[in-house]
Amino acid sequence: MTEPLLRLTALYVHFGKKTAAGNVKAVDGVSLAVARGETLGLVGESGSGKSTLGLAALRLLEVTRGTVHFDGVDLRTQGPRELRKLRRRMQPIFQDPAAALNPQMRVKEILAEPWVVHGLGTWRDHEREVRALLEQTGLGPEVMERYPEEFSGGQRQRIGIARALALEPALVVADEPVSALDVSVQAQIINLLVDLQRQRGLAYLFIAHDLHVVAHIADRVAVMYRGRIVELGPARAVLEKPQHPYTQLLVASVPSVVPGVRSTPPALRDSTAEGKGCSFQPCCPYAFDRCRRESPLLYPVARSAEVACFLAHPSSGGCSRTPP
Ligand code: SF4
Repeated sequence: MTEPLLRLTALYVHFGKKTAAGNVKAVDGVSLAVARGETLGLVGESGSGKSTLGLAALRLLEVTRGTVHFDGVDLRTQGPRELRKLRRRMQPIFQDPAAALNPQMRVKEILAEPWVVHGLGTWRDHEREVRALLEQTGLGPEVMERYPEEFSGGQRQRIGIARALALEPALVVADEPVSALDVSVQAQIINLLVDLQRQRGLAYLFIAHDLHVVAHIADRVAVMYRGRIVELGPARAVLEKPQHPYTQLLVASVPSVVPGVRSTPPALRDSTAEGKGCSFQPCCPYAFDRCRRESPLLYPVARSAEVACFLAHPSSGGCSRTPP
């Protein structure tokens, strides 16, 4: 089997000291893989751990336990110099392009910065490459002398994307890259990302809460809830026929994610309590005894999907219980 470009194995990121009240388990035992040229959409509500997982995948924060392999290399065993080299091939795009771009720098300086930092090329090379990046991201070389404040939100995100591509990465971790933009601009940026992926063979770990956006761009979808992956599979399978009660709720809360497909949300029990067993159990209308004692692992189910719910396991007869 081909080694995936990015492989996270039993990854934990916990914050704060372990006390009686517990620490914050932002990422709580996640295993995921992203293949070359693939887009994996990572969805879930705010605070589910998506962004922390993205930063951990890039090793921009320390992980508590578990491993991150990029192109077969374990990032935790790499020294600063090796890590720096690997980082050229894995780049972030952030939600707020205004905050990510230095307002004191001209566009040409912003885009040339990655080459300068890594000691690559001459200023002539930089100028040529900057022009090419601006062409590819639909801005044009005439904006080279301008400052970030002179651009709209969508244009600033194009600059952010151009900068992420400067070092020719194989993987881009895009954290909510369009959620701060108007809907019409969102579509343009998503189309740009798709085009760039085709041209460059990029893989995306695409973090988003908007299922419409994810349905448009992702090959596979991972659904995160309280630091864990609760459902994973081909985008169409997960969004057309969600099997985990939490995914059902997410999909049903937005109008028609997949055209022509409607789903009915489970009636959520209102609770934020945390305890033993399934992390969704305090809210889940289908919870039964076992859910309060054990935490379900991801089980392979139909249509190449995996679901962390006892009801989705074949021995339980499928996730079709009627809520009490
Ligand atoms: Fe609900 Fe139990 Fe499934 Fe958890 S394992 S989602 S509590 S039915």
